[in-house]
Amino acid sequence: MSKFQPINFYQSNKSSSYQLLPFSFDKLDQRYILSNFSGEYLVVERDILDKLVNHQLTESDPDYLRLRAKQFLLDSRNDIAPELLALKIRTRYVRLPEFTSLHIFVVSLRCEHSCPYCQVSRQSEDKSKYDMDEVVAFKSLDLVFQSPSNSIKIEFQGGEPLLNFELIKSIVLDAIKRNVQHQKNLGFVIATNLALINKEILNFCKEYQIVISTSLDGPEDLHNKNRPRPGKNSYQKAVEGIELAREVIGFQNVSALMTTTESSLKRVKEIINEYLKYGFDGIFLRALSPYGFAIKTKTYASYKTEEWLDFYKEGLEYIIDLNRNGIRFQEYYASTILTKILTSQDTGYVDLMSPSGIGIAAIVYNYDGNVHPSDESRMLAEMGDNTFLMGNVLTNSYEEIFSSEALLKPLEESITVSVPRCHECAFEKYCGSEPVYHYSLHKDFVARKAESEFCKKNTSIFKYLIQRMEEDDFVMHLFTRWANRT
Ligand code: SF4
Repeated sequence: MSKFQPINFYQSNKSSSYQLLPFSFDKLDQRYILSNFSGEYLVVERDILDKLVNHQLTESDPDYLRLRAKQFLLDSRNDIAPELLALKIRTRYVRLPEFTSLHIFVVSLRCEHSCPYCQVSRQSEDKSKYDMDEVVAFKSLDLVFQSPSNSIKIEFQGGEPLLNFELIKSIVLDAIKRNVQHQKNLGFVIATNLALINKEILNFCKEYQIVISTSLDGPEDLHNKNRPRPGKNSYQKAVEGIELAREVIGFQNVSALMTTTESSLKRVKEIINEYLKYGFDGIFLRALSPYGFAIKTKTYASYKTEEWLDFYKEGLEYIIDLNRNGIRFQEYYASTILTKILTSQDTGYVDLMSPSGIGIAAIVYNYDGNVHPSDESRMLAEMGDNTFLMGNVLTNSYEEIFSSEALLKPLEESITVSVPRCHECAFEKYCGSEPVYHYSLHKDFVARKAESEFCKKNTSIFKYLIQRMEEDDFVMHLFTRWANRT
């Protein structure tokens, strides 16, 4: 049989009462997942899929109404289906014209921690030449306020950004002054290991509504092993910092992130229990990223995707059981994906966007004025690869930076609807293009998806989440709540 059917195969079948609307499918177990252009999905038996594509379904088939309601087929009773589909697709892409809302300032590369998985090519604490200065900071702010986005979040990162807290103060005060004219919805985040936090810093954060994001990798021994610092007390510093920060700036204004190392793999329940112990209502079970020190120290290669998936699924099952027992707690990576699966919204999570979120959802101003489309591409530059370098705030205009080939080429080449394999994938609407990830491992913005660990990881999670919802009503109810952030 020829690979491509003749055109009349796809045209309206006059003897059929319905037309097919575009969709993709993948095998789940004995059943198939169908998904359409707007990301609506259905799980059906193989014979239903066969009947559907051969125009043999009738209204009396139990799946007919579900397929019609979710715009997989078009008949005389739902002739508004194409408009509905278009509306849902527009909703999904509503963030695009907003353009860049997250602006990351790397105010110092210095750090007193020496985490082997760190994405940053960190510098030792005394090298003040790795600090951003006011000239670079204010030129960067010029770019920030040229962004068309109505919401602007400025996030301070490092190294350890609190090592250059005086500059953070200047940037915050100057941004607030500029915003009197621009009237944007302006917010600030400091991503810190909390080792240097004190009341004076927190009082400033409170006054200007700056929120804190920190790292908590799990129980004391694991955290200290993952995040070494002089004194071997990074855990103590982190948990004391969390408590002090909550006391001064408010409980809800402090969040934490974990990173999975080889030592974490057998300890997912203990890690989750640690988050429960400190009153967090969720956790983001994050895999290592292939950048910076994680590559240099070979930490990235220390476990396989399959091992991380076992860790992730064990953690997710534990969290589901906690909820079954009345403890409200969620896993944020699942919540992000579920929002994409169960609603028409897009969460704006940069790793799961197409077009990719690099540069157009988030942007990084490095301490030296170089502008990178993501934190990960900055790491590549620190390792000597400037493929994604968009320009420098001291020498380039907003137009030159945001229309640079270093941004446009990877964006254009990696749009998933036109990428081999992704274009026919049932999960394309939930997935992302990740050109920096693929470039850093495959030297190609797209890569062959059959060899992509990103593809393997996400395909497994998409199927797992859908399967769990299909087989367990409690999980369906729970995941719907997570998807709608309620
Ligand atoms: S990366 Fe893999 S899972 Fe994602 S859209 Fe492409 S083929 Fe599908």
